[in-house]
Amino acid sequence: MELLNGKDWELLISNIDNFLFDCDGVLWEGNTIIPGGVEAITYLKSRNKRIFFVTNNSTKSRVEYVKKFTTLGYPVEFEQIICTAFATGYYMKNVLNFEGKAYLMGRPGFKQELNELGINTSKVGPDLTSGELDAWSSIPLDPDITGVIVGFDEYFNYKKMTLAATYLSDPNCKFIATNEDNILPTGTKVILPGSGSLLEAVKFVSQREPVVIGKPHSPIFECLKSMANIDQDRTVMVGDRLGTDIAFGNRNGLKTVLTLSGVTSREQLDKELAKPASECKPKFYTNSLQTLTKEM
Ligand SMILES: [Mg+2]
Repeated sequence: MELLNGKDWELLISNIDNFLFDCDGVLWEGNTIIPGGVEAITYLKSRNKRIFFVTNNSTKSRVEYVKKFTTLGYPVEFEQIICTAFATGYYMKNVLNFEGKAYLMGRPGFKQELNELGINTSKVGPDLTSGELDAWSSIPLDPDITGVIVGFDEYFNYKKMTLAATYLSDPNCKFIATNEDNILPTGTKVILPGSGSLLEAVKFVSQREPVVIGKPHSPIFECLKSMANIDQDRTVMVGDRLGTDIAFGNRNGLKTVLTLSGVTSREQLDKELAKPASECKPKFYTNSLQTLTKEM
């Protein structure tokens, strides 16, 4: 594994056609831009490189992502965004040929993306039931539900778990999850549970394993390949998370760059590198995209 400096980056760029960027922890943290990000993307664009933004974050639709990129000053086009909301819809429509209705744990943007792709879903948002626990055993069910989707849902609660588990007790009910990220990067000391933490609860209560769409799993890569002809030898994945971004790159035969601007510390990287065999070892690492653009 090598530390990338500006010169190495330039060399890498000349051998790469497709740049896949993770977003949280690489381009921004929450609503704060990570320095050097805009310069790096703008430069690659000027070199006519193909750029995709491949994110496990399921909180937004592609339309909402375009707004976020634009607000922060990143040049972007709708077709460059491969988020799990889109990849989930792609998978359900083109791989599962999903029919019926999905019980969705997610945010409005996710619902909108799925509905626009022709996937019928339940409502999202707060859903509370009050009353004695005894009454919950006769909770009303939607007979049209044929699948359960777990994404990020800040209104996740006992009622939603009850419904998801009950629907999943039918072995024909599909079980799909956007990602397994345990936390959301915040840039503060507050720990925000990610979709993966909610998913663990649903897996445990249902005793079932979902198809996971996001990195490091293959459905999001299949979705990406449907958008562009990807020559794996000439593609790099740039991300801040070892278990998702770097494992995804390695599994799919891509080059990998870890940025230390997000959830992975230098100590964690060293620990990973000390393991004899790991799919989470990056080929290159850098402190942040700024290191690369500054030294060029
Ligand atoms: Mg990230």
